[in-house]
Amino acid sequence: MTKPTKLIYLDHAATTAVDPRVVEAMLPYFTATYGNASSVHSPGREARQAVEKARQTVADILGAAPKEIIFTSCGTESDNLAIRGVAFASRDKGNHIITSSIEHHAVSHTCEQLEKDFGFKVTYLPVDQRGRVDPDDVGRAITDQTILISIMYANNEVGTIQPIAEIGRIARARGIPLHTDAVQAGGTLDLDVDHLIVDLLSLSAHKFYGPKGVGVLYQRRATPLLPTQTGGGHERGRRAGTENVPYIAGLATAMKLARQHRQENSARIAALRDRLIQGLLETIPDCYLTGHPTDRLPNNASFVFGGVEGESILLNLDLMGVAASSGSACSSNSAEPSHVLTALGLPMKLCHGSLRLTLGNENTAEDVDFVLLILPSIIHKLRALSPEYPEKA
Ligand code: PLP
Repeated sequence: MTKPTKLIYLDHAATTAVDPRVVEAMLPYFTATYGNASSVHSPGREARQAVEKARQTVADILGAAPKEIIFTSCGTESDNLAIRGVAFASRDKGNHIITSSIEHHAVSHTCEQLEKDFGFKVTYLPVDQRGRVDPDDVGRAITDQTILISIMYANNEVGTIQPIAEIGRIARARGIPLHTDAVQAGGTLDLDVDHLIVDLLSLSAHKFYGPKGVGVLYQRRATPLLPTQTGGGHERGRRAGTENVPYIAGLATAMKLARQHRQENSARIAALRDRLIQGLLETIPDCYLTGHPTDRLPNNASFVFGGVEGESILLNLDLMGVAASSGSACSSNSAEPSHVLTALGLPMKLCHGSLRLTLGNENTAEDVDFVLLILPSIIHKLRALSPEYPEKA
């Protein structure tokens, strides 16, 4: 089998290439309109205009008011600000937070720190085998001390989409703010905060063909939020630090492009995803789809395989010019199986053999067919080398 001449990139959940139109939108703000958006002179005012135009674009897409948009440095910062910000602003109301057991570490480690170092109590809700939180579990977990619920919109490893609006209805009825980490949903799902019934929502530009190092936190009006970063009065006093004008302009352009082409891109990519899933399940024995069969991100095809290590699959795919992941980019350096796969209740043996293939705008049917051609023999070869597979006595 010959290696294709171009890289087949199937790791769009980790990051995406910046769209050339986004680069173009950013360029003037590096060298021409480089003023500080807080300065009163005309270059400063021009920079301010660019930031406010971007804020309006983001607000329109979220169905929000511009004042409710906070620009941050990444999805991680947005998650941190949402959780720590609400927790510290609500100490007089209570000390209980509800989240799920499959959140990104930007959420889970923040909750763990609040528990360990600041005396908050956190409920980590279980998920079913397909990775879904039961909204009734959220309702049951609420106490008179609950100050925040944080449940991700779509999972970064297995792609499962959560019933956020149902959870939102429960949270709203009990008067508790709901945060959702929408970092993986940014390019493909509905982001209207009123449809989702959320009070806080995190986004990151590099997941939808924007630059790395810029994010958004949506904060519904009157949601309590203590700034975690103090300094100047930027972002209405909620996030100090000189605005990164080119990146903010890039984020807004990327979001606009994603919105414009959402329906057609999602449908095309979901068809490629289904071809990949069906093809691998049909040709590889002891191969299982992880996450929800239908309520999943249009670009996510994730699996576990018996008798192989995820890392070995990745290395073999890489040798053939295919870039993939064994889970989230953040946890793939760890020998421990991911907390997401263990929360699904998968046997430990299978958790070690995970593979996440995440498609993007530039992928084609030929890319999928190439993976369908090479992956069965990679798995077969690795299993033949394994002393334990199949359960060799
Ligand atoms: N939340 C989720 C679900 C993610 O997938 C990621 C990144 O992989 C993040 C948060 C963190 O975003 P960033 O890389 O912008 O810090």
